[in-house]
Amino acid sequence: MRHYIIPIFIPHFGCEHNCIFCNQRKITGRETPVRHQEVQAIIDEHLTRITEKRHIEVAFYGGSFTALPLSMQSELLKPAYTALINKKIHGIRLSTRPDCISQQILDNLIRFGVSIIELGVQSLDNSVLDASARGHTALNVFEAITLIKKMNITCGIQLMPGLPLEDWNSLIHTAYGVIKLVPDFVRIYPTLVIANTQLATRYDNGSYKALSLSAGIIRSAYLKLFFEQQGILTIRTGLQATEDLDKGNIVLAGPYHPAFGEMVDSYIFYCMLAHFIESILPMDKNDPIIIHHHSHDTSKIRGIFNQNIKKVKRIYGIDHLILKQDGHSKNEIGFEYNNLYYVLNKKMIFFI
Ligand code: SF4
Repeated sequence: MRHYIIPIFIPHFGCEHNCIFCNQRKITGRETPVRHQEVQAIIDEHLTRITEKRHIEVAFYGGSFTALPLSMQSELLKPAYTALINKKIHGIRLSTRPDCISQQILDNLIRFGVSIIELGVQSLDNSVLDASARGHTALNVFEAITLIKKMNITCGIQLMPGLPLEDWNSLIHTAYGVIKLVPDFVRIYPTLVIANTQLATRYDNGSYKALSLSAGIIRSAYLKLFFEQQGILTIRTGLQATEDLDKGNIVLAGPYHPAFGEMVDSYIFYCMLAHFIESILPMDKNDPIIIHHHSHDTSKIRGIFNQNIKKVKRIYGIDHLILKQDGHSKNEIGFEYNNLYYVLNKKMIFFI
């Protein structure tokens, strides 16, 4: 069944921190805190709109939900819990900080039917966390996830490649830390410079260099592939496009693109194409390379606006590629060239 999320944004509400990249009011488009009466109204309004059978979840996003006083958490959760026990929705989820998780907090969330918690982890490198003024350490993340999993609550984490002081060593350190944590899912949001943040000031004075679009894609692709290979699902790469984000005066720099997730997937397929071509060089450019693949993957192999095909031509001088949608497995390419047949699955990329 397809999902339907009823989003309830609590921008910065409850959070006593000021992470250098954060301006939740700009990202969520809300300037004022939400109140429990509004939660009820938002749920009711969405429920009247849903006509098809869906798996419906109420999601508290945008702030640090469990940093709110316990009584306020209960107040906000009550309307969602009522909808849950009346079988109008199927689940409640929220996002929060790793250092705002305790046994008492989790007991209360369970009492109100919360079944999924997403932690803003961002990095597992303490120097990166410190440089971003996160106010917590990697140890807090390990402790929080251990407690959440002990309570049988689904736990997702959010990562932000591209924060200050992060380099490839640091990113790899984070990736290995994540596979030890075994979260139920990951979201990857490369760092963007949002207007009216400390990061924007640093970007303006030259003390922070934002990732380019291609660097953001490469780091995200590395994390996604690495996690997939370990059986950890990445459910999103890149911020969801919104009208506000697309206006151009909110995201000042960094790897933002409305089709970022698709670009990450296309890049992974480009790596597969490049790997095969490099393994047969020097090749006779008059002989075609036939790319057998599942029809689901055609657009990812081509890339947005045929970018992958154009890049292969630009870099290797090859334009004799024939795409055949006759593959049976998604994420797999069967390359045919001369008398050679070579199968490459994207999970194999780390081994080649
Ligand atoms: S913890 Fe979350 S809400 Fe609070 S400042 Fe940091 S990013 Fe923003």
